[in-house]
Amino acid sequence: MQRVSQQRLPHALLLTGAAGLGKRHLASSLSHSLLCESRQGSGVACGQCRSCQLLAAGSHPDYLLVEPEEEGKGIGIAPVREISEFQSLSSHTGRGRVVQIEPVDALTMNAANALLKTLEEPVGQTTLILTSDRPMSLLPTIRSRCQQVTLAPALDDESNVWLKKELQHTDKYDKHLLGMSGGAPLKALRWAESGEMSWREERCRDLLALEGDEFSAVTLAQRWYEMGSERTVSWFYGVVLDLLRMKQISQASALTNPHLQSQLHRLADRVDLEFLQRLGERMQEWMRALRSQTNQQLLLEEMLLAWQQRRVGG
Ligand SMILES: [Zn+2]
Repeated sequence: MQRVSQQRLPHALLLTGAAGLGKRHLASSLSHSLLCESRQGSGVACGQCRSCQLLAAGSHPDYLLVEPEEEGKGIGIAPVREISEFQSLSSHTGRGRVVQIEPVDALTMNAANALLKTLEEPVGQTTLILTSDRPMSLLPTIRSRCQQVTLAPALDDESNVWLKKELQHTDKYDKHLLGMSGGAPLKALRWAESGEMSWREERCRDLLALEGDEFSAVTLAQRWYEMGSERTVSWFYGVVLDLLRMKQISQASALTNPHLQSQLHRLADRVDLEFLQRLGERMQEWMRALRSQTNQQLLLEEMLLAWQQRRVGG
């Protein structure tokens, strides 16, 4: 905001950092500030002027938001071509123009190459604000043409206070939320709202029930498949890592499931270190295969059978 006030923002800014930190919010705040006609002393947009109202209505002529048509989809070359046209026109309000790309790693290869041209030849008074959770997946030439600002994890009291205020209802797991999200308050909030913690607790109960032979590995594989293979497998990988940590350093604060500590201890007692190390390596292969494998259910069966069969023959 200071740099906005001092008009020292670079031509292209790349905001990076983990998902759920609020990069999109920051990018949007910066866009508002740049276009606001009566910025406050702190650099924050006033929220009242004509520019702020047009932005709120989504119809500011000096603002272009480039994003996938659907979440998770790519951004093709057409919207990127639109950027070069957009920045060649003069600003309607005389405060320059702003292009926001959300997220820039969604660009297809052709689109990324087209953006590179735009970055190489700045036209007029346009600021490009790009965001990415995965900056290393970008073309190095795109990264080098932007000024990169990496947002740090927000594990401080302020974030905890914010999270507490945002939570619609509270439960026993709240104190773990921010730490588990790696200091990404929006992710923590999403987890709380979607019941992620209870979901994980239920999956842990599944594993303990499997130990007690309440159902077979094949039955559980079917259930987990119906819940979503990627979600259950990546959670299970987290459990394997947690068990490894418990065996090696027994440090609860570093667990990916700190709220399941007592249940995980029961599992840890029943499995040896060497097996976990082997399983951890295989899990990485399975997770890679999951993205291309057509039969995900079979893969889940293989995983749970491997986990269960450790009891036979050690
Ligand atoms: Zn304003």
